[in-house]
Amino acid sequence: MERPVDPQIAQIESCISFINNPKAEAAPEAKKFVEDSFVPDFAKITADPEIKNEDTAVDQIVKTGKAICRMKMTNGVFGNISARTGDRIIITETGSSLAELEDSIVVCDLCGNPLNGKKPSCEVSSHVRIYRETESNCVIHCHPFFMIANSLLYDEPAIFGFPVIKADIGDGPNGISSFILPAILEKNLAIVYGHGVFTMGNDNFNEQLKAIYDLEYTLCRDKFLSKIKKLLKA
Ligand SMILES: [Zn+2]
Repeated sequence: MERPVDPQIAQIESCISFINNPKAEAAPEAKKFVEDSFVPDFAKITADPEIKNEDTAVDQIVKTGKAICRMKMTNGVFGNISARTGDRIIITETGSSLAELEDSIVVCDLCGNPLNGKKPSCEVSSHVRIYRETESNCVIHCHPFFMIANSLLYDEPAIFGFPVIKADIGDGPNGISSFILPAILEKNLAIVYGHGVFTMGNDNFNEQLKAIYDLEYTLCRDKFLSKIKKLLKA
C-alpha cells in the first residue's frame, strides 16, 4: 500500500515495536516518548463564520492550516484543506506547508482541474468526490500521530466507532477517493490506515478541528500511551 513518506511513521513504528516486543534496552526511549508527549490547547480559528466566497474560503483555509500545526495534528507539511464555493473548489497546493498557506492556494473547477496555474494537492480527487456526493462545503485531511499509530497497532475496521479505510494515496482503483465514501458519511470523519484522517463539514472548519482534536487527544492518545505505560511498569 502506498503511504506518505511521513517522518512520524518511523517514530510510530518504533513505539509499536516496543509494544509488541518490550525489550529492556528499548524502555528508556519508550519512557522518554511518554514523558515528552503533551496535549496542546485547542486552537479555534477566528474567521468569518461562514464560507461565502473565495476570499472567506482562503482566509479560513489559511487559518485552519495554522491551527492544525499549532495543535500538532500533522507534522507541518502533510495534509490538505479545501472549501467549495459556488462552482469552485479552493484547495491547498501540492507540497505546501500547512503552516504557511498564504501563497499556496489553488482555485479549481468542480472536477478538480486547476484554474490559476498552480497544482492542487495530490488528494484533490477525494475532496472532489466528497463535494460531488455530499452537501459538505469544507474538508480537512491531516496526519494526527495517535490516530495513525492506533490504526497501525490495532489494524481494525474502526477506531472508537470511526471507520478505518485501507487505500493508496490519490485516485485510481485503490486510491483513497475510491474508498472515502461511504466511510465518511456516517460520522463526517474517516481514518486512513497508516496515513491520516479526512473530515467534512459545513460553512466553518472549527467543528472539524474539534472532532479531530478530541479523537486524537482524548481517545487515541490515551489508548496508545496507556499501552506503553503498562509495559513500562511491568
Ligand atoms: Zn495525506
